[in-house]
Amino acid sequence: MSDWGKEIERYLPKDQSEEKAKAYFLSKTGQARDAMLYREAPVHITVSALIVSPDFSKTLMVFHNIYRSFSWTGGHVDGETDFLEKSRTEAIEETGASVLYPLTKACLSLDLLPVAAHKRRGQAVEAHSHLNLTYAFIAPQAQSLRPKPDENSDVAFLEIGQLETVCKEPHMVPIYQKILSRMRSIRDEKQATFAKLPAALVEWYQHAARALPWRRDREPYHVWLSEIMLQQTRVEAVKGYYARFLQELPTIRDLALVDEDKLLKLWEGLGYYNRARNLKKAANQILERYGGAFPKTYAEISGLSGIGPYTAGAIASICFEAPKPAVDGNVLRVISRITECYAPSDHPKVKDWITESLAAVYPAGHCGDFTQSLMELGATVCLPNGAPLCAQCPAETFCLARRHYSIDDLPVKSPKKARRVEDKTVFLFTCQASLALKKRGDTGVLAGLWELPNVSGTLNAQAALKQAEDWGVKPTALLRKTKKSHIFTHIEWHMTGYYIACDHKSDAFFWASQTDLAEAYALPTAFKQFL
Ligand code: SF4
Repeated sequence: MSDWGKEIERYLPKDQSEEKAKAYFLSKTGQARDAMLYREAPVHITVSALIVSPDFSKTLMVFHNIYRSFSWTGGHVDGETDFLEKSRTEAIEETGASVLYPLTKACLSLDLLPVAAHKRRGQAVEAHSHLNLTYAFIAPQAQSLRPKPDENSDVAFLEIGQLETVCKEPHMVPIYQKILSRMRSIRDEKQATFAKLPAALVEWYQHAARALPWRRDREPYHVWLSEIMLQQTRVEAVKGYYARFLQELPTIRDLALVDEDKLLKLWEGLGYYNRARNLKKAANQILERYGGAFPKTYAEISGLSGIGPYTAGAIASICFEAPKPAVDGNVLRVISRITECYAPSDHPKVKDWITESLAAVYPAGHCGDFTQSLMELGATVCLPNGAPLCAQCPAETFCLARRHYSIDDLPVKSPKKARRVEDKTVFLFTCQASLALKKRGDTGVLAGLWELPNVSGTLNAQAALKQAEDWGVKPTALLRKTKKSHIFTHIEWHMTGYYIACDHKSDAFFWASQTDLAEAYALPTAFKQFL
């Protein structure tokens, strides 16, 4: 319990009354201080939440049974020392709201509030004071609310302009107004951080950028290829693929005309093979629509197969100096921290806000560098999992998460859906040094790629040999059994593999030699791991 007072000690009073509240707290130490956490001292520590709608026009309040007035939510901490979380759970309990984002982790107000003598559950309570910490939250209006019957009889979003009319505790209205004004300042400060980014980041990027093969020029084909390869794949892993790809297919025309098996072989191991197919499709579109010259506008670029808003923004800004952001998970993490945004960063509305706010501050003549500086900051400094290198960060002086000690809490992400688990039995039929392969169907995961023969479910050895006979491969020996798994974005395969020697090359399969496998036919990693 020793550290629990740090938040109050760190609090910077903004008026005389807050100075008095803080001075009272600092005058207490040891047990006298700990007694305040419970209802054992003349002053109790309490927390409150002031909650507003996303557009700051309304505030969510409860009609309090004791005070016969609409008021904020909150209560005694009763030993809890995570004050922000306590104010959040009190707010959820009293309003029934399920979606509630802190505006900031920082305490917004510290007040010593007098409480008159009253009765609580039939028992007399003497006059005392609350040392109250207030936290600010944002709650979307489109959610169900309900009162907490033993404390309040109504819950409602009230027009902020009508607070003086609906709040029947006149001494509380100035406190609400004070905190609302601080909330507006924080909202404005968050927005203002965007304008500080270009100057800080572009200069940093110009001396800190890593030398990467795709940064040697701003040729759209090169930037496009690297951005597609880098989706879901690490920079180090991409370097080799990028060089080999361009060596084999140096122009957009070469890409448009390449045979699909050769294309997939160049992509083998990178995964998400539709990316490669879409590259070829888009290359053909560039030949047909633009005579082979890469289109220059964001609208034209985003009309190409496999190019979403992120890649279109990257190409348009890096190659054509258009003020178009490229917002991916790295950029969302960086901006969530800099603006201390607690709404889930992957929520479309949050992504739109970040994209639009960045677009508004793109620096003319340095659009490409600005896009790359955001990417670079996410990749090399503002690292995920609470390990950012803030001392090296060009945004350190104005990063709100850094200022409010909330880096470890950001970014917030929407809860993930559990992956579907599928069991499979996979067959490695070998016959005269050849391995049986087949093509997958045209839809679903790994569509159209080569695969090892397989069936759904887990077969025992006897059932596996029976399946082999049904396919006509005439098994001569079951050589080995092994288990592997592979994780896709939404599915997880748990696979049992049987290595079976055969003496008939059944027509059910294509029989690939070692050379075929090495040079011509791409096998996805899910299956390749059995080889
Ligand atoms: Fe990220 Fe730290 Fe920089 Fe903030 S100061 S953007 S948390 S690296």
